[in-house]
Amino acid sequence: MKIILLGAPGSGKGTLAKKISSDFHIPQISTGDLFRAIVKEDSPLGQKVKGLIDKGQLVPDEVTIEVVKKRISEQDCQNGYILDGFPRTVEQAKALEKLTHIDSIILVDLPFDVIIERLSSRRTCSGCGEIYSAQNYASNVCEKCGAGLIQRDDDKPEIIKHRLEVYETNTSPLIDFYSERLFKVSSQGTPDETYRPVKTFLESLEEK
Ligand code: ADP
Ligand code: ZN
Repeated sequence: MKIILLGAPGSGKGTLAKKISSDFHIPQISTGDLFRAIVKEDSPLGQKVKGLIDKGQLVPDEVTIEVVKKRISEQDCQNGYILDGFPRTVEQAKALEKLTHIDSIILVDLPFDVIIERLSSRRTCSGCGEIYSAQNYASNVCEKCGAGLIQRDDDKPEIIKHRLEVYETNTSPLIDFYSERLFKVSSQGTPDETYRPVKTFLESLEEK
């Protein structure tokens, strides 16, 4: 099964993706994670991508499409995957349509004021990428791998505001682009509450 998770930064796409991934045995492909890995390589491309991410701007479509194309051609993607953070522009969505057929598109919905609160208190494990909230997790080491927790530079208030503007301008048109095929879920509640209707929906697709 091939799935797109659509939604603003901080809407809870990544958390939802992890749950789907473990239940349905398909990999989570987060373009944000792919780009942060490229940044660590310290190549010319890595430096360029770092500059864009730190400012909360999008990586150019050509680069992004190339990275995704390569990733979905890998062995573990044969039975499907979850795209988390891609497509983020109409251009990317059109390119994806040429590459493959997507089975379901899930829109994760959360009001901007809640997003700002969640992102400002988000802490990320520098080792394994696990996500924590400073509001309910007081320690600054990861309970899974023991590495230190950091606040991503792009989770600072000025940059969050800019990322949401970029979402409004570039990504929200995808809601119209996919309008007839969207399954919409609110992530106001807990991660499990968000996941429940999604799981039921995906299971109903599997039965077809
Ligand atoms: P979030 O969803 O919390 O904003 P991500 O980890 O998905 O964070 O993305 C971080 C950054 O990586 C984005 O702000 C952007 O610079 C870059 N990025 C991720 N996915 C894409 C994409 N599909 N197209 C262009 N840039 C992207
Ligand atoms: Zn960790």
